[in-house]
Amino acid sequence: MRAISYTRAPDVPAAVAAVTSDPGSSYLAGGTTEVDLLRLDVLRPHRLVDINRLPLAGIEDRSDGGLLIGALARMSEVAEARAVVERFPMLSQALLLGASAQLRNMASMGGNLMQRVRCAYYRDPESACNKRIPGSGCSALEGVHRGHAILGTSEHCIATHPSDMAVALVALDAVVHVEGTKGSRTIPVDDFFLLPEDTPEREHPLTPGELITAIEVPPVPMARRSLYLKVRDRESYEFALASAAVALALEDGVIREARLALGGVATKPWRAHRAEDILVGEHADVDVFVRAAAAELAPAITRPMNGFKAELARRTLVRALQTVAAQGGGTA
Ligand code: SF4
Repeated sequence: MRAISYTRAPDVPAAVAAVTSDPGSSYLAGGTTEVDLLRLDVLRPHRLVDINRLPLAGIEDRSDGGLLIGALARMSEVAEARAVVERFPMLSQALLLGASAQLRNMASMGGNLMQRVRCAYYRDPESACNKRIPGSGCSALEGVHRGHAILGTSEHCIATHPSDMAVALVALDAVVHVEGTKGSRTIPVDDFFLLPEDTPEREHPLTPGELITAIEVPPVPMARRSLYLKVRDRESYEFALASAAVALALEDGVIREARLALGGVATKPWRAHRAEDILVGEHADVDVFVRAAAAELAPAITRPMNGFKAELARRTLVRALQTVAAQGGGTA
């Protein structure tokens, strides 16, 4: 058994100073992933800095139609907030589909962004894993990889990013607010998640001690009729095999703007730019949806156990597009 010390941060500067000055320390928010990994001996901090009492739990309506969501707002609060349900239904749906009710009540929005991969080899200290121990190898490449990624992979890591919420945030062009000892800065959420490439152990561009304080969702009028569609092995308490966040702006049946992202198939929440580019200017019909989905999945690299994911992701995206188009889409 290892001893871990515990402190409660009184304010944001004190929390940032505590973790920045001590590389062996970590923030503790909802703890729904972190405590599991401590018990498994995968994460080994010697000090936890509890941030749960910091004033970062608000959900603030912006006058321009956007939202500023505090990093400590719980998933359940955000999923049920009227502004989210009405203006950003894809985000509400992704949160509700992302975890059980108990976990949603504990897990914070910032913690959701920081959650670690569900690759079984990452969670087993006996297995080789480049993400846990850089340079040790990747057991999933020749091992069990049915749930692993087919987009954004590298020869060093093929772990799927597990968040549903982040897929919706990527489609919405959300921005992450962070605070460090040198001040505050913002990071577009699409840039907040790094591809594994040669450094799978580095998942975010945060510097040591930087703390997520809020997530800003800009106004996206077309998102009022958006959808998050998740396909999984069972209907609850399960990660996505494939998912799609979709918003369309339609005018006389023509797609003026598209916001698309995929989950369950990539090493980061995957903005589907190729598909968006094909859709814009076209009539919203199934043929163009199929063409767009095929283009997005064209670079997929599949392995013996996860080849089915390419077709599943194509069909998931097409079905989500059909559903949103049948609702008339939103306004740009
Ligand atoms: Fe580790 Fe990534 Fe390989 Fe899983 S896929 S064993 S997380 S390096």
